[in-house]
Amino acid sequence: MERSYLFPTYNKFPLTLVRGRESTLWDEEGNAYLDFMTGLAVCNVGHVPERVKGRIQEQLEQLWHVSNLFHVPVQEELAGKLVASSCADLVFFCNSGAEANEAAIKCARRYHQHVLGNQRYEVITFEQSFHGRTMATLTATGQAKVKDGFGPLPEGFVHARYNDIDSVRSCMTERTAAVMLELVQGESGVHPVNVTFIQELSELCEKNGVLLIVDEVQTGIGRTGRLFAYEHYGIEPDMMTLAKGLASGLPIGAMMGKEKLREAFSAGSHASTFGGSPLPVTAGLATLEMILEDRAWEQAGTAGAYLIRELTEHCLGYPIIREVRGLGLLVGVEFTEPVAPIIQRLHQKGLLVLPGGTHVIRFMPNLYVNHDEIDRAVAVLVQVLQEWEGTATANPQVAAP
Ligand SMILES: *Cc1c(COP(=O)(O)O)cnc(C)c1O
Repeated sequence: MERSYLFPTYNKFPLTLVRGRESTLWDEEGNAYLDFMTGLAVCNVGHVPERVKGRIQEQLEQLWHVSNLFHVPVQEELAGKLVASSCADLVFFCNSGAEANEAAIKCARRYHQHVLGNQRYEVITFEQSFHGRTMATLTATGQAKVKDGFGPLPEGFVHARYNDIDSVRSCMTERTAAVMLELVQGESGVHPVNVTFIQELSELCEKNGVLLIVDEVQTGIGRTGRLFAYEHYGIEPDMMTLAKGLASGLPIGAMMGKEKLREAFSAGSHASTFGGSPLPVTAGLATLEMILEDRAWEQAGTAGAYLIRELTEHCLGYPIIREVRGLGLLVGVEFTEPVAPIIQRLHQKGLLVLPGGTHVIRFMPNLYVNHDEIDRAVAVLVQVLQEWEGTATANPQVAAP
């Protein structure tokens, strides 16, 4: 590769993908790949979906941008659909997951300080969580590697143990403004929340006047077998954040909250130049309408159960695989060793998947993935596992602990 003019922030896979349709991507030489990562759980309705493409093209002819100082009808339309489909009453649009979480943290603090008139500011988050890369959200994130070299970090974040209600209890004080969590920890390796834990957490928050924020940046928009993952647990968060799957790849983020939070974000308190711009919001509206019309989360639930069943049946027997787990189409296969070289082989054989942490391979195909595509993906993994086992036996050093 010649000199790159980009900051080297990404450890890039040695692949250049130039075209996509539904579950398939093609590289520069015309080789096809089965896409089981969908960007990063972004292309939930597949690549270049016709029903979204047409709507973006119409908007492209009409108007690209006006300031949020004017009314943008398509924002109201998307916000209205999100509210009608969820437990939230209000929406703030921005451009990414980190920004949506940043808005949630700001809104929670301002609700306590400006609306209720108390001095609460602390946010409890969890070990191994991921909430983004801005200063506040990397501080909220429960992983040391995203904070390295960026100090001093903002005050007001404490980390509890995930799925441990006593740990949350011991972190909660009269300073606690909110608890924020993912319902499946995605980036750190597909760790689903425990049902009893989330229900007890929801009660604990309510009893103590603490806001419950669910980060659905990765789990939202049908990914887990429900439109939003919180619906699995019979709880209603005070706030929820969305981004990745919402606009099929155009940049968008959304912070959603209950009516009581309205005055926390009073005029002038928060803003974003590009947030809710007509083009991404049109893509979001078309994507959401497609998912609602098709009830695509149901298909994701069925496909996810089938994927977990097939992976369990055909792969779990290999000694380097420790566990298969997930919710809907957010599926993780945990290995006994680092997965980077295995992922490289899967890519070479035409299956695109992602790591989650160091030891987990994440499978996140689009919500419309069919059984034939799942069978093909599992067959590729089985082939790589067989070859891997072959090299491990032929060369004992590789197999060592
Ligand atoms: C990806 C992700 C984010 C950050 O989203 P960006 O759009 O990259 O800022 C935040 N939270 C969760 C759970 C994520 O998976």
